[in-house]
Amino acid sequence: MRESGEHLSFGVAEAVDVAARRGCLEVVCGSMFSGKTEELLRRMKRARLARQRVQLFKPRVDQRYDAVKVVSHEGANADAVPVGSAAELLETVQADTAVVGIDEVQFFDERIVEVCDTLANRGVRVICAGLDQDYRGQPFGPISLLMAVAEFVTKLHAVCSKCGAQACRSQRLVASEGQLFVGGAAAYEARCRRCFSPGVIEGQ
Ligand code: ADP
Ligand code: MG
Ligand code: ZN
Repeated sequence: MRESGEHLSFGVAEAVDVAARRGCLEVVCGSMFSGKTEELLRRMKRARLARQRVQLFKPRVDQRYDAVKVVSHEGANADAVPVGSAAELLETVQADTAVVGIDEVQFFDERIVEVCDTLANRGVRVICAGLDQDYRGQPFGPISLLMAVAEFVTKLHAVCSKCGAQACRSQRLVASEGQLFVGGAAAYEARCRRCFSPGVIEGQ
C-alpha cells in the first residue's frame, strides 16, 4: 500500500507526463513579411530549450533562399527537411518527436490537414506557418481548413508599404501566372486592405 502522499505525487507526475504528450495543432498565418517564419522559429527554439525533440519541415517547392533551411526575411534560419508531399512528411516524422514545425504550409495540398491531425492525435504538437491569402486575396491552399481544425490560430500583420497601416495582404509586383509563384521582397509587397488591388500586378 502506498502512503496517500506518495500516491498523490505519483498521480501528479503521471498527469504532467500525459499533458506533455498531448498533441495539438497551431496555425501561424498572415501576409508576407508579417513575421510568420520568425514566430515559427521562436516557438521551435523554445521547444528545443525545453529539451523536446523537434523536426522542422518545408515544402520542396520553396527554394527561395535555401533548400535545407527555413529562412526569415531578417535572416534568422534553422535547418529544415524539404518534403515533396504530406505523405513524405508523415513518413519522416520520428517516433520520439514531440514538436513538428512546418513553414510555407500553404504550398501543400489538402492531404496536409489529415497528416497534421494524425500527428496531433498521436501526441505531437504541430505548428504550421503559412500565408492565409494569395496575391488575389483568396484563401491559400489548405490554410483555411487548417485554421478551422486548429486549437490555436495566430494572425500576424506586416506594415503596409504604401501607408504604414497594418498589412494583411500580399501585393504581387512581378507578372507571373497562377497562385504558386515563390518570391521574396522584389516580387511581393505587404499591403493593407485599402492599398491592396486584388490580382493586379504592380510595378510593370
Ligand atoms: P514571413 O515569414 O511572414 O514572410 P518573416 O518572419 O520572414 O516574415 O520576416 C519578418 C521580418 O520582415 C520582420 O521582422 C521585418 O524585419 C521584415 N520586414 C520587411 N518588410 C516588412 C514589412 N513591410 N512589414 C513588416 N516587416 C517587414
Ligand atoms: Mg516566411
Ligand atoms: Zn495601406
